[in-house]
Amino acid sequence: MLILLSDAFDPSLPGRLEKFGEVTDDKRRAAEANVVLIRSKTKVTREYIDAAPKLRLVIRGGVGLDNVDQVHAKARGIEVHNTAAASSVAVAELAMAMMLALPNHLVQGHNSMVAGQWLKKELKRTELYHKTLGILGCGRIGRELARRAAAFDMTILGYDIVSIDDPLIAQVADPNDLLRRADYISIHLPLTDATAGMIHAGTLAQMKDGVRIVNTGRGKVVIEKDVVAALESGKIAGYATDVWYSDPPENTPLLGAPNTLLLPHIGASTEENLLRIGDIIVELLEDYTQRN
Ligand code: NAD
Repeated sequence: MLILLSDAFDPSLPGRLEKFGEVTDDKRRAAEANVVLIRSKTKVTREYIDAAPKLRLVIRGGVGLDNVDQVHAKARGIEVHNTAAASSVAVAELAMAMMLALPNHLVQGHNSMVAGQWLKKELKRTELYHKTLGILGCGRIGRELARRAAAFDMTILGYDIVSIDDPLIAQVADPNDLLRRADYISIHLPLTDATAGMIHAGTLAQMKDGVRIVNTGRGKVVIEKDVVAALESGKIAGYATDVWYSDPPENTPLLGAPNTLLLPHIGASTEENLLRIGDIIVELLEDYTQRN
């Protein structure tokens, strides 16, 4: 069995996988690979699958499977798995850090000091205490964020298409209800036909003036140019994002916008999470080899 590590994983992983077969990180060998391990960079498209006749198993280290053509994989009899449970704490901690960074002006404060300025009077902070957080998508990560936000005494609203069933989160049936009431909105939705472009000029207009938005879900859930217009008008007071239309982004208008915090898709990239992802990959391969 040839196992191709097509993206970056914990350095311990190749050694842990040797018991299952040959392990390579040479992407030119994709056509020979039986198992391909990816994170978000490799796109397992129809063309990729058609060029890999021996492929039987794709494991995505992480959650979002929008970089895999799952329909075509299924038609070709290729199993596709993610390591969904591993990343929740890592992403929730980053979302919380981003939510703290915006009203505390951590980026502006640091940059102004480095630039030789002393903005003690200009940088007015606000607190998360007793503010309302609206969580869009209350799955594993959204609920982990709720636990952290509860420790800051925030009121937590959640919108999801399934029942949330979490005592910390007051579920709203109408997403506009959440948009109208939230001081902070944190996006934890997968990218689907229903969520693509969900945050646009119309939904932004529903929000409270001065709302701050954190996006660790998927870049395409927001219309970037509409977010930029809302930042420029002051309708929204901040936009912090870890996720983009492409990795890395090309020609994004967010690079020139005010009051942003922009990160290079590092939500899942904690040392601890990369080890957890490795553990789950080993379990999935043990299960796969027992069945085949
Ligand atoms: P999850 O499946 O546990 O939760 C997603 C939730 O969104 C579910 O409860 C689902 O019912 C809900 N949902 C789906 N479509 C919806 C819709 N149209 N309207 C309202 N709710 C809807 O997934 P998770 O582990 O919490 O991860 C959420 C997302 O976070 C992933 O899909 C991925 O895109 C993103 N993510 C980002 C990073 C990062 O590095 N920034 C890392 C991991 C995951």
